[in-house]
Amino acid sequence: MDTIKVLCITGWCRNGSTIIGNVLNEMPGFFHVGELHFLWKNGAGKGVNNLCGCGAALTECPIWSEILTLGKPAGVTLPDFAATVIRRQRACVRTRHTWRVLRRGPGSGGGDIRAHADLMTRTYHAAAERTGARVIVDTTKIPGEAALLPYLEGITPYFVHLVRDPRAVAHSWRQPKQYVYAMSSWMSTAYWHGFNLASHAITRRFPQRSLFLRYEDFTTDPEATIDTLLRLCGADPAANPVRDRTVDLHTNHTVTGNPDRFRTGVTVIRERDDGWRDTLTLPARLAAVTLATPLFRRYGYSYGGTLTGGARPKENHGSRA
Ligand SMILES: [Zn+2]
Repeated sequence: MDTIKVLCITGWCRNGSTIIGNVLNEMPGFFHVGELHFLWKNGAGKGVNNLCGCGAALTECPIWSEILTLGKPAGVTLPDFAATVIRRQRACVRTRHTWRVLRRGPGSGGGDIRAHADLMTRTYHAAAERTGARVIVDTTKIPGEAALLPYLEGITPYFVHLVRDPRAVAHSWRQPKQYVYAMSSWMSTAYWHGFNLASHAITRRFPQRSLFLRYEDFTTDPEATIDTLLRLCGADPAANPVRDRTVDLHTNHTVTGNPDRFRTGVTVIRERDDGWRDTLTLPARLAAVTLATPLFRRYGYSYGGTLTGGARPKENHGSRA
């Protein structure tokens, strides 16, 4: 089995991973799978986000229709197989399992995690074979899945812990987006805290193959950020697809992700990401910064605007995430 690289982005949802993954997808030899964890739920289970980034149903997409059946025993229907995979995911790779999986890998929880590790190994390798990719970019973000990667045969993982200002994240969660429900600022930031702590546990364990990244640093200088990500996994920054904040996005095959993943064509990555100043109520802002303590300051975020808001130049917000 050839060794492939998996560039894995962890952190709480709405952190901008979809656009970063889609930019990397433009690199020769890279393939952004989207949020691979949800392939079974959305491909054959009860998930409502059943379209591939190419616009086809996952069960019709030329890449995923075949991969979806990997490991499915003869005589078992695809929905029943998907239900088994989802049950195993819940049993062994939730965020609270991250530390245990990091320590013991597939030895940490009986047959379920061994079966899941085997399925993920086959799935990554099949995705690489079908696309010719040497680097798979996975924006699943769930730390429990990321913690299992070092134990998968023929895979060298690289970890990107991606954070975004919790006020911007809470702003993004305010409105349901097509297939995604809404969430309060309290709830969003509580998850933000938990997912970031678990992501720390992973990057501490593998410091040479890990990177901490703020979404705001990406929107400030997307070209330099993509350079850094390419160097992390040993790729040549000369092929960086971003020039002057602009990237030409082609059709992708992302399993799940922000609705912006369907956008193709010349795309400008905008700098500002402070739409929360217009929309978050004072209690929602206070909830975000309070529950994010002490990580909020450790990540270099400023409390500025939390109590006042509103006062910002009128121009486009950052690229939506
Ligand atoms: Zn597709």
